[in-house]
Amino acid sequence: MLAIKNYINGELVEPIAKTYIDNYNPAKGSVYSLTPDSDERDVQMSVNAATAAFPSWSTTPKSERSAILLRIAELIEKNLDKLAIAESIDNGKPIWLAKMVDIPRAASNFHFYATAILHDATDTYAMENTAINYTLRHPIGVAGCISPWNLPLYLFTWKIAPALASGNCVVAKPSEITPMTAYLLSELCIEAGLPKGVLNIVHGYGHKVGAAITAHPNIPVISFTGGTKTGAEIARIAAPMFKKLSLELGGKNPNIIFSDCDFDKMLKTTINSSFSNQGEICLCGSRIFIERGIYEKFKTGFVAQAKQLTIGNPADDKNRLGAIVSKQHMEKILSYIDLSKQEGGSILCGGKQAHIAGEFEKGWYIEPTIIEGLAYDCRTNQEEIFGPVVTLTPFDNEEDVLKMANSTIYGLAATVWTESLTKAHRVANNLHSGIVWVNCWLLRDLRTPFGGVKSSGIGREGGFEALRFFTEPKNVCIKL
Ligand code: NAD
Repeated sequence: MLAIKNYINGELVEPIAKTYIDNYNPAKGSVYSLTPDSDERDVQMSVNAATAAFPSWSTTPKSERSAILLRIAELIEKNLDKLAIAESIDNGKPIWLAKMVDIPRAASNFHFYATAILHDATDTYAMENTAINYTLRHPIGVAGCISPWNLPLYLFTWKIAPALASGNCVVAKPSEITPMTAYLLSELCIEAGLPKGVLNIVHGYGHKVGAAITAHPNIPVISFTGGTKTGAEIARIAAPMFKKLSLELGGKNPNIIFSDCDFDKMLKTTINSSFSNQGEICLCGSRIFIERGIYEKFKTGFVAQAKQLTIGNPADDKNRLGAIVSKQHMEKILSYIDLSKQEGGSILCGGKQAHIAGEFEKGWYIEPTIIEGLAYDCRTNQEEIFGPVVTLTPFDNEEDVLKMANSTIYGLAATVWTESLTKAHRVANNLHSGIVWVNCWLLRDLRTPFGGVKSSGIGREGGFEALRFFTEPKNVCIKL
């Protein structure tokens, strides 16, 4: 059985403790590889390597850093099929989805930041006849990057690429639930000629490796994506150490459908925004609000289409949904479906574990589930479920729907469907959310700020925001 290795100081190495965690293929519910169960000693080795590499990497000309990162992007593209298959086996997502979204996006992350640094500029402020101020931006040092399991390589590279591009060295930890593509990335970094120590990847549990990264005094900047509870724990440790923090956390995103929308386009996209990646995307719209006049029409069409979504073998391109990432997560989702019934909800479709015959019978699958009849402020409608489960709620006017949409502790993303330009602007303006999509979903321009408000996080990723996050500004004032 393949034993994944850590990538420290340019080499693939065993964890110091020589112990491993079982890594599951969720489509089959069986162990297929081993993940290092690393601890603070492996983190310390990585920090040593990154600290030693920093003086050279941070002063390497941008054009050279860019060329190396572009080589990594090219190698990801060259290995698209291999990486997509690995991502699917590790996470349970359909291979077609990994080929279409996850892996191309991982390559784009490197492409984007490798070229962004070539076009970046800093500010100057001229004081008339007195002085000129200019801002220098320095890389910070060793950055800690911690990522989740839902879009493994996509989100891992979304942090690593800007951190490296802006001249930092990195100690990174992928999710212990989906470590495989980060391991394959370390092989590609070696092939691309990334100098040793510049990127270090330490595999293992959050409470060991993640906690050691968070608490390490020589890691002054941390970029984290994951659950809100974990984000709060990281903030608790990091805040008194005055670390720079970017936290991309959970969501409970509203999808607001007005009766004047383009119905067919909306319905097609709403199927995707509800059930793509088994609903395990932080941006999925899990609370669907429908203007009362089209509620019944929407319900009929939406339920009919959801019932046609096929679930099963992630390698079969006909299947729209694959497996849920872990048994524990499947049980959590199912417990929320039970809760919704106790809270008075009616299940319009799905609502159960899906059993796939043959070699996938032990896999973890859940039917696309649609629930109606719940109060907007019940737990099912307030807490993040992070699975193929959505609720339908009718609304009568803009004021009502905004109150319901803005009622959760979260504020990551929202979707609005209307053909009225003024209404779209007005509603977008009044949503408490870091991202609003109007008449689309998951349309991403990597230059735009990405992140949430309230308990969905602090800071923004994306574009020049990320380059600013991974650098410290210094103002120089010169008297004329
Ligand atoms: P998680 O918080 O359990 O784990 C995320 C990462 O943090 C993992 O690598 C984990 O090992 C590590 N970790 C766990 N405990 C830690 C600790 N004490 N200290 C440091 N690191 C620790 O989240 P998850 O279950 O992997 O991911 C699902 C969550 O991620 C959902 O809440 C989802 O909304 C969120 N998410 C948010 C975004 C976003 O951009 N806002 C994107 C994707 C996922």
